Amino acid sequence: MPDLNLPLLPLPTRADATAPRLLIIYTGGTVGMALNSSGELVPMEFGHLDRQMPELAHLQFRLELLSLPAPIDSSNVTPADWLFLAGLIDQHYLDFDGFVVLHGTDTMAYSAAALSYVLEHLGKAVVFTGAQVPVGANRSDAQRNLITALEIAAARHPRVHTVRVPEVCVFFNDVLIRGTRAKKVESQQFAAFKSENYPPLARAGISLEFDDNSIRLLPGARLKVHGQLETGVAVLRLFPGITEAVVSAILGVPGLRGCVLETYGSGNAPTAPWFLACLAEARQRGVWLLNVSQCEEGRVVQGKYETSARFAEMGIVGGEDITTEAAVTKLMFVLGLGVSEARTRELLATDLRGEITL
Ligand code: ASP
Repeated sequence: MPDLNLPLLPLPTRADATAPRLLIIYTGGTVGMALNSSGELVPMEFGHLDRQMPELAHLQFRLELLSLPAPIDSSNVTPADWLFLAGLIDQHYLDFDGFVVLHGTDTMAYSAAALSYVLEHLGKAVVFTGAQVPVGANRSDAQRNLITALEIAAARHPRVHTVRVPEVCVFFNDVLIRGTRAKKVESQQFAAFKSENYPPLARAGISLEFDDNSIRLLPGARLKVHGQLETGVAVLRLFPGITEAVVSAILGVPGLRGCVLETYGSGNAPTAPWFLACLAEARQRGVWLLNVSQCEEGRVVQGKYETSARFAEMGIVGGEDITTEAAVTKLMFVLGLGVSEARTRELLATDLRGEITL
């Protein structure tokens, strides 16, 4: 069990004792970067967030900040970090009304999807955000992103006062996206994320416009935080000319338990006998294969063409309209549950956290 005794730093605001209480968890990424004396971008001392963002003092929320002991560039994030983060949210769940996770943009979509699975029956908002330009730099998008993310984390239905977005989600550049539908699509512009195959949960213009029909309903059950993720997973992206050596090397990785098969169009793949034999052999060894399309829109329909006709009978699971990010983390989550083969198949094909539209 990781040491969860990390200090909480209160940030001064205008809120009174009845105002929503929000926890900001800083994990690293560009949002918290500053130039060091050698001109390199490195994580800065984040306890001084209020100095970088004096506008926080005007908010009507009670804010506390928790920083990971060693903030990271999100390219270094691992499943162990996701479980640690889930543990922190679990530890503080009852004391706070909502959570904002400051995270690097590069793997934010994976982290948001992973947390969506691990935090089952979530009843509060966990909003991931970050920035394309560091908080201390001119023209940073950190202020806009963070302040609106905090508003979303605190939001309640105007009439019934229940939590407005009881989901793990990504807020970036005025768009709120379900955690299992987010994809980073841009590395240079502020609009870095896209909601794939699903409408945004909210848009921030002059006012915050929530799409309540797209937001998942509040669960009746208590939060359940899962503590296992299977790391024996891989992604096999097809391309014309891929060789048997490449396919068999990836599917033959020792300890492999599951693989996302990134196929063409509506889930199509070569019909070459060597290719089908590699897949069948992996399946016989118990490797789970999740068929995900390389297309950004649309869905996998196994059997639509001859090129995917054999997949269902081999036990390859069609990923419907899932993103690769949500598929990789779904494999990690479902295989980490250690349930029977029949249950694993059922869960992989089920919509667990709004990641697929059936
Ligand atoms: N490399 C950074 C990260 O993902 C990029 C960013 O935050 O925008 O941590």
